[in-house]
Amino acid sequence: MAISEFDIISRFFDGRGPQRADVRRGIGDDGAVLRVPPGQELVAVLDTLVKGVHFPDNTPAEAIGYKALAVNLSDLAAMGAEPAWFSLGLTLPGRDVGWLEQFSAGLFGLAGRHGLQLVGGDTTRGALTVTIQAHGFVPCGGACSRAGAREGDDIYVTGTLGDAGLALLAIAGRYHVAGAGAEELRERLERPVPRVALGMALRGLVHAMVDVSDGLLADLGHVLRASGVGARIAVERIPLSEAMKAARDELGERQCLDLALSAGDDYELCFTAPPSSRGEIMRLAEAHGCSCRRIGVVESGGRLVCMWEDGRVYRTGRKGYDHFADAGRGSPDEKQ
Ligand code: ADP
Ligand code: MG
Repeated sequence: MAISEFDIISRFFDGRGPQRADVRRGIGDDGAVLRVPPGQELVAVLDTLVKGVHFPDNTPAEAIGYKALAVNLSDLAAMGAEPAWFSLGLTLPGRDVGWLEQFSAGLFGLAGRHGLQLVGGDTTRGALTVTIQAHGFVPCGGACSRAGAREGDDIYVTGTLGDAGLALLAIAGRYHVAGAGAEELRERLERPVPRVALGMALRGLVHAMVDVSDGLLADLGHVLRASGVGARIAVERIPLSEAMKAARDELGERQCLDLALSAGDDYELCFTAPPSSRGEIMRLAEAHGCSCRRIGVVESGGRLVCMWEDGRVYRTGRKGYDHFADAGRGSPDEKQ
């Protein structure tokens, strides 16, 4: 059954999810009119998901709806922002009502959990593409940044790394996982849990923060460059899931570590903070039900070095690393 663009908006999007008092005007006008609380600043983030690029062709519509918002919430979390509103740019190849039902269910399921209202958007025809711009609040001057890391800071990461990359290997048929493990990995790829509450709680405590979307080394690299510092990572301390540990037999330790360091799509938080904050940070992570591991230290100079505990340098040829080395600061392997 074909329905019009306006039917799509009114049936699947208008009035769905939380309705907030700070939305003076939402869907239905040429623009939304929104009220930022006194003493707060607006944080705006945007992420696009393109079929075949950001998600495999056979991804369920419900998962696409969920993930399109989740990746934006992860950006808000890295800024320490409290989510409030979002807009949806939706490009659809056709008017598939069943697909829209599933997509909107995934989208509003997550929006409801975080109290976000959909305040507008655009609906067009073309190759399946989902763009979301999300908005959140921080107290004036209080947003977290990539630029504040200081020599001597500890480096932390939440959750476990590399699972989404491992799931993609499994989907591509290059890794064979059966039963509950396969389901768990697929969840990590399709339903990343944005660390929103922890991100907000860490505001004021961390010197620098980023969300890990392009792989730890690439995203930590952004922090180091923005902050004008380097880092030493302890390879043994990289948090690995049980699924990843189980994969080591088939794939080998090196490929698993490379996935954890560089594969991307993790949507965990990586941040730096002074050693004096260790107790408070672990307490906050626990209070928010989020595992958190200290994985290294910020150093002077511009290099990012991964080391085994026995002092050997861990070499990886993966892209995240090359990207950092391309910036003219030298490869981590040069430092021996
Ligand atoms: P215009 O032609 O003025 O750009 P549209 O006809 O595209 O407006 O949209 C009408 C209203 O519906 C607007 O308020 C717009 O923000 C909203 N809207 C359009 N598409 C979406 C969508 N996918 N999700 C949420 N709101 C949407
Ligand atoms: Mg208009």
